[in-house]
Amino acid sequence: MKKINWYPPVILGLLALLVLTFGALVVSRSDQVQTVTSIENSHLKNSGQQTFEWKLVTTWPKNFPGLGSAPERFARNVAEMSNGRLKIKVFGAGELVPAMGVFGAVSSGAAQVGHGAAYYWKGKVPAAQFFTAVPFGLNAQEMNGWLHYGGGLELWEELYAPFDLIPMAGGSTGVQMAGWFNKEINSVEDLKGLKMRIPGLGGEVLNRAGGTAVTIPGGELYTALQTGVIDATEWVGPYNDLAFGFHQIAKYYYYPGWHEPGSVLEIIINKTAFEKLPQDLQAIVRTAARDANQDMLDEYTARNNRALKELVEEHGVELRKLPDEVIAHLKAINTGIMEKTAAEDPQFSRVYNAFKEFESQVIPYHRISEEAYYQTRDLGAH
Ligand code: CA
Repeated sequence: MKKINWYPPVILGLLALLVLTFGALVVSRSDQVQTVTSIENSHLKNSGQQTFEWKLVTTWPKNFPGLGSAPERFARNVAEMSNGRLKIKVFGAGELVPAMGVFGAVSSGAAQVGHGAAYYWKGKVPAAQFFTAVPFGLNAQEMNGWLHYGGGLELWEELYAPFDLIPMAGGSTGVQMAGWFNKEINSVEDLKGLKMRIPGLGGEVLNRAGGTAVTIPGGELYTALQTGVIDATEWVGPYNDLAFGFHQIAKYYYYPGWHEPGSVLEIIINKTAFEKLPQDLQAIVRTAARDANQDMLDEYTARNNRALKELVEEHGVELRKLPDEVIAHLKAINTGIMEKTAAEDPQFSRVYNAFKEFESQVIPYHRISEEAYYQTRDLGAH
């Protein structure tokens, strides 16, 4: 009888089992190693290993007071908060692209950030004008409320999404001045034939009132007024206007800025570039924009009144209030333009309705709070 030798098959079987088990362990361990490695990589990516360099183009001359210092502040804060991981180089108007080329440059990704004003792009997006200023509309405080807590920013984001742009509020001037004039405005007749630099919806109002509105970038304004290419110009307010030197070439300084009651400046970010940033850098960009937005209003609040005193007391500027008759006329024209544009442009209509809805809530409250307080404060003041 042949003795069956069981050992080789058993040994082979056990060996095979051992190989399979050990192999499985090795595979499972290498999976774990891989997972750990990818977590480590993403951790490194988010903790300071990846750096970005962006370009920021502006519609202002470099370091222009107020308007031009906001993008500098934004870039500096982003660099400091990110410990240098996101560096933003600021280019003034004309350095990389002309002032009016900012929207296109950021939309195409040639620059990653832009600083300007939404109403400059009304030719591309008429409803964008709501996000700078509406004549006789919301003031700075109310605009900030609408944008950040009243649904305004979401509407603005929708408008810019087709251009691969993310908009953010990037500054506010507060109530502006009506502007610098070389002829007196005593009645609505005086608006006829007036050639004035006045952008946005205010410009359309002037056109309907018989004037001619022109849009000239800041850097070319002084010469245009000096040489008589234009009869009048609005710019911002005393702090900026004094720096510009308009008092040297214009006789009358009119108020109030009915056309820009609380102009918002914008920071536009190329959406594709923004989405490439890790979350912490995205948060830094948003926070720095919010800071720039509030900081500009603070600066104007502190400096406008001092500059006006200097303009009047040291430079002999003649300060004039626009007559009520002129204001009422401009307001009626403005309402007509808003209604007509809304009837023609569904996008404009949608934003207009949202804007009016917010106005209907905030204005009655501000009548008994801000406005009533201003009156209370003035009682017996003179
Ligand atoms: Ca202005």
